[in-house]
Amino acid sequence: MPGAALLIAPSIPTAPVTPAILDRLRAIVGDKGLILDEQDKRPFVTDWRGELTGQAAAVVRPANTAEVSAVVKLCYDNGIAIVPQGGNTGLMGGATPWPAHRGIVLSLGRMNHVLNVDPVGYAMTVEAGCILQTLQDTAARHDRFFPLSLGAQGSCMIGGNLSTNAGGVQVLRYGNARNLVLGLEVVLANGDVWDGLRALKKDNTGYDLKHLFMGAEGTLGIITKAVLKLWPAPKDLCTAWLAIRDPRAAIELLSEAHAASDDNVGSCELMSRACTDMVLRHIPGTQDPLKAETEWYLLLEWSSARPRQDGGTGMPDRMEQFLADQLEAGRVLDAVIAQTEAQSRNMWRIRESVADASRAEGPGLSYDVSVAISRIPEFIDRGLKAVLDILPTIRPYPLGHIGDGNVHFSFMGPKGMDRDMLNQYSAAITRVVNDLITSMAGSISAEHGIGIEKLDELQHYRSRTELDIMRTIKRALDPKNIMNPGKMLRLG
Ligand SMILES: Cc1cc2nc3c(=O)[nH]c(=O)nc-3n(C[C@H](O)[C@H](O)[C@H](O)COP(=O)(O)OP(=O)(O)OC[C@H]3O[C@@H](n4cnc5c(N)ncnc54)[C@H](O)[C@@H]3O)c2cc1C
Repeated sequence: MPGAALLIAPSIPTAPVTPAILDRLRAIVGDKGLILDEQDKRPFVTDWRGELTGQAAAVVRPANTAEVSAVVKLCYDNGIAIVPQGGNTGLMGGATPWPAHRGIVLSLGRMNHVLNVDPVGYAMTVEAGCILQTLQDTAARHDRFFPLSLGAQGSCMIGGNLSTNAGGVQVLRYGNARNLVLGLEVVLANGDVWDGLRALKKDNTGYDLKHLFMGAEGTLGIITKAVLKLWPAPKDLCTAWLAIRDPRAAIELLSEAHAASDDNVGSCELMSRACTDMVLRHIPGTQDPLKAETEWYLLLEWSSARPRQDGGTGMPDRMEQFLADQLEAGRVLDAVIAQTEAQSRNMWRIRESVADASRAEGPGLSYDVSVAISRIPEFIDRGLKAVLDILPTIRPYPLGHIGDGNVHFSFMGPKGMDRDMLNQYSAAITRVVNDLITSMAGSISAEHGIGIEKLDELQHYRSRTELDIMRTIKRALDPKNIMNPGKMLRLG
């Protein structure tokens, strides 16, 4: 992410919240649903990294869809900007009312009820403010599995996950957030409620409207409820930490792992040594699973819904055989299979704490890009060379959801360099990275979205036809441009 100082503030041509409108908001959501105190508003107007702090006239916290609808209608009638917000863990500034905002933040946090679990039909109906981890736990209590899983799962909310079409560590098997949804309820920019809360696997009745709102980052409407898909709960799980030769070995390993695991690969995460070291430095309680003479590691997890049979071959046996074969092939240099849940948790904690560790380490740059899986090694080689040519002392710590072709191409600033100084290199580095990924038919944003941070990059890299289609949709659904204005898409 480039530094805030580099961002060009989008113009947000919306009306202020007057005292009379505040009274009407209070009448809709009550005192409990309205935050006006500057100190209390602060967590809602500051982004997760603490790099952007904006302003909003009020933080409004409706308790149900009817209240969301009434608040949005009031804003629509008066031309007031709305920034929808879930857990505020997004990394692109999309949920932040930045810079100064005369509108409101609409927080979904009070809409946190699981409305129905249908284990037989493998579906669950939930409100948008449910914390992701709560949904995973709820599914588990019904012997089912909700596969969306990411480092922020203890605080991000399903409405935010769907609005960013979040990825995470199980995409390779289950798909992105949008693939986990059967139906949605959405409050549109004029306050109307679209009831698409259907649990249908098949429905070919014209445009599939739910996909418009997923990944839209709150620019088209407010997701208030969702019907989510469930899967059988995993019963036989094996997690391993592998020291590997290089990124090419990683993709070859993954390619072989599908058959070796009987098509049970759940996750395959590439970590650089620098990345692992950074986590070990900053996150108390994490332990290095394996010290080896290599720059690259792989966190590999296989899981099956079939319980391990006494005397039969389970996931750990298969993994052991696989690792022995791969050691012999020279792709794996060393490996450890988690023998206890605590060991597996430690491996996952290292992977999922990267964002926290990088926040603690200091200013950095991170590019969330994707490319065809087989081209990842080439991208990493060429990208590192291009960035180091610009700033030789920058400290790379690449990692990625390698099974999705998604590399978090990340760098810490050189030791001792502050944010302002790093920003002087940021534009040039951003350009070489994004030019390279585009020349390789990749994407400049694999999973974190656009928000404010990549507004200009989207404009630069999407074709005129694509931008025209997006603007046409935005203008049709949000003619007054009140839904998260200045995010994702420049209208002019
Ligand atoms: C430690 C950490 C790890 C992460 N790991 C991953 C990862 O592996 N994969 C990944 O994809 N992302 C990851 N992220 C970023 C990810 O996008 C978010 O964590 C999550 O999906 C956002 O959910 P949220 O509830 O916090 O949304 P917010 O940050 O509150 O909002 C994100 C965007 O969605 C909009 N929005 C929020 N709720 C609604 C709603 N109900 N209706 C309409 N619009 C809404 C907001 O306006 C904003 O534009 C990570 C973030 C952190 C901090």
